Amino acid sequence: MTRIPLIAGNWKMYKTGTQAVAAAKQLAHLSKGVDGVDIMIAPTTLSLPLVAAALGKSSPIRLGAQNIYPGTEGAFTGEVSGPMIKDAGADYVIIGHSERRQYFGETDESVRLKIRSALDAGLIPVMCIGETESQRDADETFFILDKQITDGLKGFDLGDLDTLILAYEPVWAIGTGKTAGPEQVKEVHGFLRHLLKEKYAEGLAATIRILYGGSVKPGNIKDLMQLEDVDGALVGGASLNPEDFNEIIRF
Ligand code: PGA
Repeated sequence: MTRIPLIAGNWKMYKTGTQAVAAAKQLAHLSKGVDGVDIMIAPTTLSLPLVAAALGKSSPIRLGAQNIYPGTEGAFTGEVSGPMIKDAGADYVIIGHSERRQYFGETDESVRLKIRSALDAGLIPVMCIGETESQRDADETFFILDKQITDGLKGFDLGDLDTLILAYEPVWAIGTGKTAGPEQVKEVHGFLRHLLKEKYAEGLAATIRILYGGSVKPGNIKDLMQLEDVDGALVGGASLNPEDFNEIIRF
């Protein structure tokens, strides 16, 4: 079973529109000729249409949003819906990032609603899951991941999950410079694939892409990508620099 790797850059709340366009153009130039890997960048929602126009529809660099409001339109001041994200030029949306869970009150239930809205809008959801340091220390890692998947995907059938991408991001490794060790990543990714097989089907477990995220950089991407169940990376800090991100996508 070959799964095309995906390297995704989460630009978080960094870069103005002008800076985002410049970085995306530089990345497009640097990454020319890269093959066999899907590439996605997620600038701020405001920058999405600007970056989409700068890259052009045929660019191999695809775009993602960092959040979505569940619903299509309505009186929800400040929010942006799936159809709007899609129309702005994105194909993907990151859902349930730990920063959203930690600072903006997102729960497994809101993650579930957001995944549904993403699918309805024809967007590919990148569902983020991961344990905190205290949960890992208390030996709750697998329990937490099981709960995030079970509750976040409650009510979805196999057909819904065709395009879903999982991103395992141990919270203690995000933006900290601490990467989970190869053994830890291998163990969790293997566990997740097994869980999907038990809960859904062997076919889904075999085809779903599971990304690793948390302090991924040019110096550690090769080792991570060598692990059997790692199908790519969700990169924060190191994706902001086009040269570093270009090195990462050329793992
Ligand atoms: P980091 O962020 O690469 O800066 O650790 C990862 C993420 O938040 O997705």
